[in-house]
Amino acid sequence: MGNLTGKTALVTGASRGMGRATAERLARDGALVAVHYGTNEEAAAEVVAGIEQDGGRAFAVRAELGAPGDVHELFLALEEGLKERTGSTELDILVNNAGVMGGVKPEDTTPEQFDRIVAVNAKAPFFIIQRALANMPDGGRIVNISSGLTRFANPDEIAYAMSKGAVEQLALHFAKALGPRGITVNSVAPGITRNGNPVFDMPEAVEAMAALSTFNRVGEPSDVADVVAFLVSDDARWVTGSFVDASGGTLLG
Ligand code: NDP
Repeated sequence: MGNLTGKTALVTGASRGMGRATAERLARDGALVAVHYGTNEEAAAEVVAGIEQDGGRAFAVRAELGAPGDVHELFLALEEGLKERTGSTELDILVNNAGVMGGVKPEDTTPEQFDRIVAVNAKAPFFIIQRALANMPDGGRIVNISSGLTRFANPDEIAYAMSKGAVEQLALHFAKALGPRGITVNSVAPGITRNGNPVFDMPEAVEAMAALSTFNRVGEPSDVADVVAFLVSDDARWVTGSFVDASGGTLLG
């Protein structure tokens, strides 16, 4: 029995990267995990199958965040999946992980690109929390994935960093509002973390990225998932409204 046995969790953007590692870790800790994805149904199904093979419980939910009706679609699928498996729609743990990088220089960023980044990275987490609160019992847990770029300058990613700055505000203000219910809300800020981006197949690029961390390596998805697992556990009951640096010391300068 894991420390999350009997709990339910939603991890957004769990078909790949840190979201996937987080879904797998929470399932190993005993939670029933809703593996959310946007487009890659096959990848999400693979995550669910892997969790089940390891004796855990999970189901996939699709919703294209940033599109009209996104949160409604997400919660329709989530509630159906939870009800089927637990007989209730209670959600104990929410991890807002799904996000999109900018990848466009400020001088080339169009209003449409800016709106999309903000819609997926900041607006969706706000409305997901707003909606999730109807399902979340006292003692629930909310973690929002930010980025070290809110503290580490990268002029090529201003719009993205702005969206993550907004995400961090969720922890401060929702933590105050939800304290009386024993619900904690925290931000986790990863540094450069391996994902499916082809840049991680280029040794020179990986070496340069690794040099930003005091540990001289790039982060692995599990490095961040383990931090999230602590924050959603009972052990973190006294931690709320915090900014957790999970950048491997990148922010030390
Ligand atoms: P990946 O790029 O590997 O995966 C992104 C996940 O989010 C996928 O599951 C994808 O689903 C989902 N997703 C993306 N856009 C949408 C959308 N519009 N609607 C629904 N789902 C969507 O993620 P990472 O592990 O790299 O990053 C995870 C989080 O960490 C993000 O918030 C990112 O900003 C942040 N971060 C990442 C860093 C890094 O170096 N990797 C550094 C700092 C922060 P699908 O493929 O099915 O569409």
